[in-house]
Amino acid sequence: MRKPARLFERLDGRRVRCHLCQRRCLIGEGRRGFCRVRENRGGTLFTLTYGTLSAVESRPIEIKPFFHYHPGSTSLTISTWSCNLRCTWCQNHHLSGGLPPEGYGPAFSPAEVLELARQDRGICVSFNEPTLLFEFCLDLFPLAKAQGLYCCFVSNGLVTPEALDALVEAGLDGMNVDVKGRQGVYDRHCGGGDVEAVWGLAALARRKGVHVEVVSLLVTGVSDDEDTVKWIVERHLMYLGRDVPLHFTRYFPVRDFTAPPTPLQRLERACDIATEAGVRYVYLGNVPGRGEDTRCPSCGSTLIVRRGFSTVSVRLTDRNRCPHCGTCIPIVGEPTVSAR
Ligand code: SF4
Repeated sequence: MRKPARLFERLDGRRVRCHLCQRRCLIGEGRRGFCRVRENRGGTLFTLTYGTLSAVESRPIEIKPFFHYHPGSTSLTISTWSCNLRCTWCQNHHLSGGLPPEGYGPAFSPAEVLELARQDRGICVSFNEPTLLFEFCLDLFPLAKAQGLYCCFVSNGLVTPEALDALVEAGLDGMNVDVKGRQGVYDRHCGGGDVEAVWGLAALARRKGVHVEVVSLLVTGVSDDEDTVKWIVERHLMYLGRDVPLHFTRYFPVRDFTAPPTPLQRLERACDIATEAGVRYVYLGNVPGRGEDTRCPSCGSTLIVRRGFSTVSVRLTDRNRCPHCGTCIPIVGEPTVSAR
């Protein structure tokens, strides 16, 4: 649905500047921004995606991946269309590469989304870049919080600080930030984007009390080399610290990007590099049965066992402590075994 956008500036000649994402597009009258879903009409910026949802489904929180945020829960996951990046290997290209249907498609109201979330513990905006549902989230999140639901994003982190402010005020309390690699990866494969701004945004979110986890898809021949992994780990520790979970996920070929899947040795080496450098919670993704469990960083005990995006056992005492040595594990919410 088309609706006046927030966070834009009117300029001369009926041009506008969008301040939703770090691209801060300058948009002439009748034109759209890089994401193709924000349009300047007569000197006013409109979103074309308010309530226009490309997917609405209940999903385990582990699939995002979030491992230290309400483990064992499901979230009602919603998404819209398009993206503010153009990653060649995007695994959700059918959504991120598309536009809302002609006429913008049927629109959901926030109340209708909440009604669908009755079996879930939270709302997650995911699949394509959630920032493009910004105005809808500003209306949805306060209602969701009033019902005791958590509200989270799976984002590429190119959100502006002012957009983050508004989202946190509305109720955003969890953010999974996807780091693609060093700056050259953004420039060569993703259509641009400032990776230092992504790290800075993740750090800002954390300072604002948002639970943050970082995910990095190690793409064969692009971002799975040791130098890139070391750079990611160094930045992770510098911006976020050792207690923020870091997920390395396995890439698979998609569309025209035909490099073979990430070799398992590369993924395991990445985990070793991060652990040796001091990151306390390092996980593997898209490798069933490996690197999914939470271990106590002090005594090594297995505390949460996961299989196939489900939490199958939880061995923590009250307040999320290791039952063997008492180390407190930074987890938001009470972990539960996933419903079957
Ligand atoms: S959301 Fe980002 S890409 Fe889209 S118009 Fe605004 S600044 Fe440009």
